[in-house]
Amino acid sequence: MENCLFCKIIAGEISSEKLYEDELCYAFYDIDPQAPVHFLVVPKQHIEAPAAVTEQDAAVVGHIYAVIAHLAKELKLEKGYRVIANSGEDAGQTVHHLHFHVMAGRPMGWPAG
Ligand code: 5GP
Ligand code: ZN
Repeated sequence: MENCLFCKIIAGEISSEKLYEDELCYAFYDIDPQAPVHFLVVPKQHIEAPAAVTEQDAAVVGHIYAVIAHLAKELKLEKGYRVIANSGEDAGQTVHHLHFHVMAGRPMGWPAG
């Protein structure tokens, strides 16, 4: 999608520190990390937000969770990690392309935010 930051990152028009890529998704480190490990996993297909996910997207969303589990193993996040997908204003979504934050390397407070 035109003028979408993450579509541009996926297309390589804006540089990123890539962690993983396959035909369905792209993973890269967050530019402003909030934990010792903080990366984002995004579908290559432009989906605006968690609120825009439909049954048609079930396969890609499930795939992303499997990729996250795979990357967590590779990065040896044995102590755990948190996955967050912000949707809309109150949740603090700033980039309108569905993305899953993966954060690890420190104890996480709860409730979030
Ligand atoms: P949101 O607030 O929408 O849930 O998360 C957007 C995330 O994208 C933020 O954590 C922010 O630091 C990250 N981000 C924004 N612009 C860029 C960028 O140009 N490159 C990378 N790697 N991350 C970005
Ligand atoms: Zn996009």
